[in-house]
Amino acid sequence: MKKLAATIVAIILIGIGSTLPAEAQSAGATSEKEYKLLPGLAKELIDAKADPCADFFQYACGNFSKLYPIPSDRASFESFAMMEEHTERVLHAMLEKAAAGGADRTANEQKIGDFYASCTDAEAVNRNGLKPLQPELDRIAALKDKSELTSLLAHFQLINVNAFLGFGEQQDFKDAAKQIAAVDQGGLGLPERDYYFRTGDVAEKTRKDYVQHITNMLKLMGEPESQAASDAQSIMQLETALAKISMDVTSRRDPQNIYHLMPTTELQKLTPGVNWNRFLVEAGAPPVSELNVANPEFFKGLNALLDATDMKTIQAYLRWQLIHSTDSLVLPKAFDDEAFDFFRHKLRGQPEQRARWKRCVAATDNALGEALGQVYAAQEFPPSSKQATVQMVHDIESAMDQDIATLDWMSPETKVRAKEKLHLVADKIGYPEKWREYSKLTVERGDAFGNNQRAITFEQLRELNKIGKPVDRGEWGMTPPTINAYYDPSMNDINFPAGILQRPFYDPKSTDAENYGHIGAIVGHELTHGFDDQGRQFDGNGNLADWWTPQDAKLFEEKADCEVKEYGNFAAVDDVKVNGKLTLGENTADNGGIRLAYMAFLADAKRKGIDLTQKQDGYTPVQQFFLGFGQNWCGSSRPEELRMRAQTDPHSPRQFRVIGVVQNMREFGEAFGCKTGQPMMPQNACRVW
Ligand SMILES: [Zn+2]
Repeated sequence: MKKLAATIVAIILIGIGSTLPAEAQSAGATSEKEYKLLPGLAKELIDAKADPCADFFQYACGNFSKLYPIPSDRASFESFAMMEEHTERVLHAMLEKAAAGGADRTANEQKIGDFYASCTDAEAVNRNGLKPLQPELDRIAALKDKSELTSLLAHFQLINVNAFLGFGEQQDFKDAAKQIAAVDQGGLGLPERDYYFRTGDVAEKTRKDYVQHITNMLKLMGEPESQAASDAQSIMQLETALAKISMDVTSRRDPQNIYHLMPTTELQKLTPGVNWNRFLVEAGAPPVSELNVANPEFFKGLNALLDATDMKTIQAYLRWQLIHSTDSLVLPKAFDDEAFDFFRHKLRGQPEQRARWKRCVAATDNALGEALGQVYAAQEFPPSSKQATVQMVHDIESAMDQDIATLDWMSPETKVRAKEKLHLVADKIGYPEKWREYSKLTVERGDAFGNNQRAITFEQLRELNKIGKPVDRGEWGMTPPTINAYYDPSMNDINFPAGILQRPFYDPKSTDAENYGHIGAIVGHELTHGFDDQGRQFDGNGNLADWWTPQDAKLFEEKADCEVKEYGNFAAVDDVKVNGKLTLGENTADNGGIRLAYMAFLADAKRKGIDLTQKQDGYTPVQQFFLGFGQNWCGSSRPEELRMRAQTDPHSPRQFRVIGVVQNMREFGEAFGCKTGQPMMPQNACRVW
């Protein structure tokens, strides 16, 4: 799925967080364990010995990692992952059936079944060796001079090899009704630009391991040891030079920084070494005269870099980027093992590779998500769940309306505009109204590599084909079985796939309080993204346009800065602190989201005449609400994973997604009888929304 400017799409996700207790490491959970979905209030996860006023994460989730240690095939484990494991098995059964089925299969069943069956045939993949990649390798070897590079880079974009740069489609930030082409920085193998420059033992070891990994991959491709090692050094130098002209992950969160609409002739001036007219045609774009050059400084620097680099190094770099960008599931086992060793084991601490069938379920979802999702939604998502979620989303939108009305820091003018935006938010729940069409995508049984590449090209051309056409407001950026949700500022829509609308997030058997604490907080989170430091820069029509009075904008920034400081003081792992600026949007969404869910929950309880002081099952409804919210984030992570996430992920580590939020909410302290000055009820709470 290649969509440029995807960085701007804020998703809630699978946070990660608390350091791993010893018992979780020694318990030796196997990857074959089957998990049941948790109930709305999982009492066994509660550490009753902990004081909720001192550390609410420990109280709500303290027993999680003892009961559910991290399986050996994961870098972290959390309530989201338990749902994933469950969903994976549901999809597995569907795919096995589609793979076995005979002549009466529907066209979609043929595609998902054959895609999955080919993917799981590891022997056939091994037998083919690197043969399927040979035409690409031949093209690299045949390059005579740099003028021929344009065509190769364009072709690589169609098979998701982002050597030197990225290319795709996006909605125009300043005119959301328009779909345009976009070029962006690219071409790095490490997760983020700062990986090339950070100092300290861990960072230096990572770079050393990375160079070794490149060496190993080149050796597997047939290079002699000494050549592989020297090529790897040159590649690292080249990538470091690319990193130097790239923007870091925190700066990229500001839409202003990654939006520079210009005529293609301007891009030609920035990077004369690439023939951009030819590039656009050969990369599959319809005729365009303008495009977003997300990071112009990068394209200026790229030209100098291409000039200064010899062909031999460029060719080695292209071979590396080709093998690195190819899904290792469709490469021989030795490549797959080597890619696992660096990217999953060394970088994230995962001890073992996931079973092939699990990875093939994910690959099928990635390639044919709406063919698979259609069957999934019909089987797993009852209309009653959709109705209940729609109702809750409406309640939470009303809560935001009220919240805006009562904000003491915002002027009446800006409030009018904020409400306008709120009323234009589109709610998308469960699955798309109109399913994506796959008839032109050929899936052949026994051709895992070809299926993978054709699916990538199909998706890239589908994206590019949108350029110049009206926006399809019904489109989804996540597949129905996904355990996640997102807000898209250009669409101004909130999206909740069927996958997240199941236990423990939503369960008709849970109390209303538990459901509001679980899925209500997620709905509030996504809605608040429309009004976080990123989202607030877009108006109700999805256009990057300033609708704030200068004074209100200043007050917003002051209030947000309180959260930057609050979260910036949390330690993620060892010496690595949470990046308060990188995580600001997510933290604002977490804080605003729970408040909206709480308001909606109170309104619902009032409507139903529920006594909020009456304990049920040991807890008052308000306590159940906060426990539901806290238990959204139960889990633990391996230390390597914690480090990588803290340096790349806009979400705070999971325990801070709980305590960072309840610290800011007096209603929490009151519900658990905390005293002002206790850790969960400090004097100086932050509040934006
Ligand atoms: Zn989010």
